[in-house]
Amino acid sequence: MRHAIDLFKKVIVGYGIAKELGSITTELGLGRRVAIVTGAHVRRLIVEPLVGEHLRDFEVEVFVAESPTVDEATFLADPVGRFRPSAIVAIGGGKSIDVAKYIAYQLGLNYISVPTATSHDGIASPFASLRGFKTVYSVKAAPPIAVLADLELISKAPRRVALAGAGDLIGKIVAVRDWRLAHKLKGEYYGDYSASLALLSAKHVMTFSSTIAKGGIAGLRILVEGLISSSTAMCIAGSTRPASGSEHLFSHALDIVANYPALHGEQVGVGTILMSYLHGLNWRRIRKTLKKIGLPVTARELGVREEHIIEALTIAHKVRPDRYTILGEGGLTRDAAEEVALRTGVIGGDSKDSSR
Ligand SMILES: [Zn+2]
Repeated sequence: MRHAIDLFKKVIVGYGIAKELGSITTELGLGRRVAIVTGAHVRRLIVEPLVGEHLRDFEVEVFVAESPTVDEATFLADPVGRFRPSAIVAIGGGKSIDVAKYIAYQLGLNYISVPTATSHDGIASPFASLRGFKTVYSVKAAPPIAVLADLELISKAPRRVALAGAGDLIGKIVAVRDWRLAHKLKGEYYGDYSASLALLSAKHVMTFSSTIAKGGIAGLRILVEGLISSSTAMCIAGSTRPASGSEHLFSHALDIVANYPALHGEQVGVGTILMSYLHGLNWRRIRKTLKKIGLPVTARELGVREEHIIEALTIAHKVRPDRYTILGEGGLTRDAAEEVALRTGVIGGDSKDSSR
């Protein structure tokens, strides 16, 4: 069997390293005509000073991505292409990176990822998560040629956005279980190495949850390392399998029934509690850790109605029928969905069997 792996060439994590963007671009032979794709807010706060001070030797044009949609990415690909850049640089939270990734793939260009938040593992993965496709999950693109994670920039992101990445990472505990299940029951390809790597990123977060909860640079570094490790797992597997199982299906379903109610990582965290219960895993430990980090563990904390949780649980298996998980082909009945949500305390006040 032939299995090709596409990986980034360089990952740099450190405090105040964004100023190295120019030298890294040169070092990687990416040319001097750079299209920066970013958000309006980040443009003012980060991109303009960075370009003015550290990219003076480059011809730079900045493109603002208004929303993480396919329409926006397709619309922007046109002016970016006309600028004829030698490379693209994505600077922003997960959303701008997803848009830039899609544009780079469409135009066949390399891109450097400069995340300004630790919100999800798309910062270095080869998959773009954009709204507006027929599907709500990610589509294949290419991994960045380099990742420049400046902890100084990342530390300026709102705490809630920073912590969401921890929820996305803890989700790998369920994602890997689902993958193994699909391997056993459906004969799906299973890569032990990429599965272990994804799992490691979740364990890393569980082990260092106190450090993450403190909200300092040390915690952010753990999150960055975990997100890059999970992205690498996807590069190696050639699919999102090691990083996305029924906990992600639940989050996507919640996006459908409640119109993107909370942050991706927050929803995945709650999905992980629910699905680890179904897998017979230690869901209490997962719930406790999420709570300790400061992530939502209930419908109320997610800002959704209890009915939304139940509905999302009953439709989650239909979101991506080719992705076999613990939800099986038939999914959960309404009664079963309510039972899971009640038992784990996601709905109906606190956990019903927390005393056990
Ligand atoms: Zn995710």
